Amino acid sequence: MTALPASRLRNLPSVDQVLREPPAATAIQRFGRHAVTDAVRNALANARAAGLAGAAVPEASDVAAEALAQLKAGERSSLRPVFNLTGTVLHTNLGRALLAEEAIEAIRAAMREAVALEFDVEKGERGERDDHLRSLVCELTGAEDATVVNNNAAAVLLVLNTFALGREAIVSRGELIEIGGSFRMPDIMTRAGARLVEVGTTNRTHPKDYAAALGAETGLVLKVHTSNYRVEGFTAEVSARELSSISKARGVPLVHDLGSGTLVDLARYGLGHEPTVREAVADGADLVTFSGDKLLGGPQAGFIVGRKDLIAALGRNPMKRALRLDKLRLAALEATLKLYRDPDRLAGRLPTLRLLARPAADIAALAAHLRPVVADALGEAFTVDVVECRSQIGSGALPLETLPSAGLALSPRSGSGKALEALAAALRALPVPVIGRIANQTLALDLRCLEDEAGFTANLAGLDAGGANALA
Ligand SMILES: *Cc1c(COP(=O)(O)O)cnc(C)c1O
Repeated sequence: MTALPASRLRNLPSVDQVLREPPAATAIQRFGRHAVTDAVRNALANARAAGLAGAAVPEASDVAAEALAQLKAGERSSLRPVFNLTGTVLHTNLGRALLAEEAIEAIRAAMREAVALEFDVEKGERGERDDHLRSLVCELTGAEDATVVNNNAAAVLLVLNTFALGREAIVSRGELIEIGGSFRMPDIMTRAGARLVEVGTTNRTHPKDYAAALGAETGLVLKVHTSNYRVEGFTAEVSARELSSISKARGVPLVHDLGSGTLVDLARYGLGHEPTVREAVADGADLVTFSGDKLLGGPQAGFIVGRKDLIAALGRNPMKRALRLDKLRLAALEATLKLYRDPDRLAGRLPTLRLLARPAADIAALAAHLRPVVADALGEAFTVDVVECRSQIGSGALPLETLPSAGLALSPRSGSGKALEALAAALRALPVPVIGRIANQTLALDLRCLEDEAGFTANLAGLDAGGANALA
């Protein structure tokens, strides 16, 4: 006869009893008494709830082991490294660009030591944060002046707030973009305090549309690179060059939001041509904004380059302080930008470019090499095939262009979508989660971004595909 739950719970060990158990002693050494006591209380509360629902009352040693397991699980960083086999190189949800070793070294140095962040070492007086990048950015883009903020969204916000607060910002209806859900041009405009004036239509905007909208209330004209989509068919847009002469004639600044903004012609590396920052500057934009962690291949940042008087005005906006970069990212950006001085060696040193320019034949050879290893780890219930596939650049750069790549297609021999879901979950449960893409009854692993083959193989040894096999 089982006792009533409430009376059985009287046998639940006390916090002190649990703390005397060996696993608790181990835990205290590693995590400290305070954290362990909290974890034990938590484990006891769980046991009490389970006991009320009819479960057996655990021993003190079980509770101690449970508390230790909880603490260990909580210790693992939630910002974990993963294998990005999604086929998207600059994957926003997976952290975009991987940094060059030179940038990583620069961050390490800036973390350990005091640095001359806002200090002019030569003159021995206060310096400016922007000075570290200004001349380098101007050299690489042909711009007169430059500043840098938290990300490109911040760059656009700061520009709008500085030049169009309480005034009008003119944008073509074909360029009112949304990026990654939370960056919508009309919303940013409102929050920046600017009144959006839409001109033209979704597919066609003409010079006369801008000319008619320009007036005494105009704070700026904004041209947005429609980075993540393309309007095709019966279309017309006003080029930056033409727009520059229209806005100059009226004394209104033209701002060109390039989004990804590359510093080199990607055609050089066998990719399509994405407008470079130098071209946007040469085409006459008064300010150009672009990201640091998209094609540029650095840490998250937003650049604003262009006319000296306008950059100075941005510096006087109190918002600039709230959007500024810390020393770590400045250090990483400086090191990354310096790599651009030697374009011949760039693809070897900058991971983003190295991955984008990786030859499909190399990736296919890797796929052939890994196929038996993966098949072995997965077990009988799944087939593993080498397949050709197409990678994407990601982050809105060259949205319609895909890169020939290769990978592995994992499919259940019989079975359902459930087996595939279970397999994807098992791969995500690995010490270094493996992230692929499910489409058409297969889990595709695009190997373009896999460079550590040995690490991948060792990680795969921990795969528990039993559940997935049972479903397949
Ligand atoms: C990506 C993008 C942004 C936002 O840049 P973040 O660096 O992600 O803040 C803004 N405008 C365009 C055109 C973009 O492509």
